[in-house]
Amino acid sequence: MSKEVTFSIIKPNAVKKGVIGNIIEQFENAGLKIAAAKLTVISRKKCEEFYAEHKERPFFGELVDFMTSGPVVLMALSGEGAVLKNREIMGATDPKKAAPGTIRAKHGDSVGENAVHGSG
Ligand code: ATP
Ligand code: MG
Repeated sequence: MSKEVTFSIIKPNAVKKGVIGNIIEQFENAGLKIAAAKLTVISRKKCEEFYAEHKERPFFGELVDFMTSGPVVLMALSGEGAVLKNREIMGATDPKKAAPGTIRAKHGDSVGENAVHGSG
């Protein structure tokens, strides 16, 4: 494996619940470093561009409404095999199917409001 950088978002439901620290701790405990981080509200336009691959899906409007509903934390995670490691730590898209102990199992509220995004 080689050192990689991957993009992560702590979604509005997780920021609202006050679990930013817990989520970052899980990344750090797994050996990932927070290489950059910013708390911000994403604009509708940026969000629609970011999720363009899903624009024909029935949940697109709901996804954009949710992702722009409050502050998120944008992060760059770095480390050995960061892309795969991030996916493992996040768990499956649907929190009900996510492995116990994963971020989505712990903090996800639904398939849409699933606490974190991971790129790659
Ligand atoms: P992400 O890209 O956010 O890391 P993912 O790769 O596990 O998640 P995708 O299939 O890329 O999942 O879906 C992107 C996002 O769209 C999901 O994280 C979720 O918030 C939302 N989403 C996916 N499927 C549904 C659905 N059936 N209903 C509502 N929202 C959904
Ligand atoms: Mg995806």
